Amino acid sequence: MLLDSYNRHLNYLRISLTDRCNLRCVYCMPEQGVPKLFHEDILTYEELLRLTRLSVRLGIEKIRLTGGEPLIRKNIVDLIKDLREIPAIRDISLTTNGVLLAEKARSLWEAGIKRINISLDTLNPQNYARITRFDYFDRVWEGIQEAERIGFSPIKINVVALQGINDAEILAFGRLSYEKPYHIRFIEFMPVGADNGWNTDRFLSSEETQKQLETLGPLFPVNGQGLDGPAKRMAYAGARGEIGLISPISEHFCPSCNRLRLTAEGRLMVCLFSDNETDLRTPMRQGASDAELEAVIQTAIAQKPKKHPVRLNALQRKCQRQMSTIGG
Ligand code: SAM
Repeated sequence: MLLDSYNRHLNYLRISLTDRCNLRCVYCMPEQGVPKLFHEDILTYEELLRLTRLSVRLGIEKIRLTGGEPLIRKNIVDLIKDLREIPAIRDISLTTNGVLLAEKARSLWEAGIKRINISLDTLNPQNYARITRFDYFDRVWEGIQEAERIGFSPIKINVVALQGINDAEILAFGRLSYEKPYHIRFIEFMPVGADNGWNTDRFLSSEETQKQLETLGPLFPVNGQGLDGPAKRMAYAGARGEIGLISPISEHFCPSCNRLRLTAEGRLMVCLFSDNETDLRTPMRQGASDAELEAVIQTAIAQKPKKHPVRLNALQRKCQRQMSTIGG
């Protein structure tokens, strides 16, 4: 079991496969993008698999592939197949913006991904183009429908709640959870990245989101299972889907944080809001043994902070990295 200095059980590794994205969401990436990593700076699949195996040996059981946009990384399906060969991994999932999902869903399913998170902040094509700076709403929607037809379950739709941008659509998402078996998860907007437009006027707390949702009808708690994340899960009576509220700002889940993040260039991040990163790529490419790399990982974990520093109305600082280079 992998324990940190505060006895938290770390069993979840989020792996960013690329820093590149085919969208430019206004709250995540500047229009011109961010400086791209060189190809040789990005971990190869061999390197990724080695670090994953080591992490699993230390106690990681759950893997999420993210990015940038993970579906633009070549041969992702082969990587997933290789990850599936690591016996101690109990769960592999993927977070995607869905732009390439319609064409890739079948091969992802066949490679062993059975559940998927799709980021979609609006159900309105015009608003979609405004938020993402691309006109791909129909493609994403088709990707979600295809994932449903194939049998992915659950299909989680991640919605970043943004005051003045998509707050008028909260009820539309609530209604969607009646009609479709999707888990709609509202995530509080986080001040991550040097300049992602975060300010308190854009922030919509989970409490406010829930209040709006409850104008449609009462929400009943849904019990989580072992590998569930920090979402507060609820559902409307008779609904096919669920509602989840994820509140990293208004209700820290630091005491139960079980996460580590690996960036595309091989840096281990022990807290999303920290600028403290540990380079695993350099020692690995310099020939470090497995035991040496494990020691580097353990040292990084010992520095996992007890709590992240972000408080509403008392913002001390942001993580300087753009979210697109971490993976959310
Ligand atoms: N491209 C993939 C996607 O769109 O799902 C994976 C990477 S993206 C960075 C992962 C998630 O982070 C997305 O759901 C995105 O909406 C979310 N995200 C990005 N910036 C955020 C922020 N400042 N606060 C909250 N969520 C954010």
